[in-house]
Amino acid sequence: MTKNTRVVILTGAGISAESGIQTFRASDGLWENHRVEEVATPEGWAANPELVWSFYQQRRRQLLEVEPNPAHIALVDLENYLDNFLLITQNVDNLHGRAGSKQFIHMHGELEKLRCEQCNHVEIMMENEHLGEEFISCTQCEGRLRPHIVWFSESPLHLNEIDDALSQCDVFIAIGTSGNVTPASTFLNIAKFQGARTIGINLDPPANVYFFDEFLQGKAGEILPALVQKWTQ
Ligand SMILES: [Zn+2]
Repeated sequence: MTKNTRVVILTGAGISAESGIQTFRASDGLWENHRVEEVATPEGWAANPELVWSFYQQRRRQLLEVEPNPAHIALVDLENYLDNFLLITQNVDNLHGRAGSKQFIHMHGELEKLRCEQCNHVEIMMENEHLGEEFISCTQCEGRLRPHIVWFSESPLHLNEIDDALSQCDVFIAIGTSGNVTPASTFLNIAKFQGARTIGINLDPPANVYFFDEFLQGKAGEILPALVQKWTQ
């Protein structure tokens, strides 16, 4: 890897889990003991907004208690070394930003932001007065705010920008995400199709491990710092 190598990173739940954040489990369809239909769909929000609001307020308050781990920090070092870098995360926590990453996309939204149901105004709201159980009104139009989270059946954010980066990258690295479900599998295919080297780092081997030119099994926080040091020497 040289400074000119164009690198796209995709991070998933595994990198957040190493900081103590539990996310949606595909194995049983539960997120912190709630069914996904209940807390991560527009229908769930319409049926019981109090429950959904309370669920995300807990997730938002949890951000104050967690810290970036060595994998987040290694990605900052890699970004600082490279001229052409994009980090795409499926995670909704703020750990990449807090670690110091700059070129990153939250394709599934961000816990620290809220969005107006009426005018779509999006704002970071992480002060104490924003983290209680009461609904909050929009600062622009007084509409009700909802979590700025991409729920199931809603469209991921910044897909054009992601597609542009993938179709021009030299190296694609998937970290803490099983490579066999979308979007990881789709991104992997796009990158591989146009000739990128593909690398996977995950606790469990993905079903499509053969799609990766290189697969490293283990904790990202243990594997990535040494790798980045090697790449950036
Ligand atoms: Zn509004």
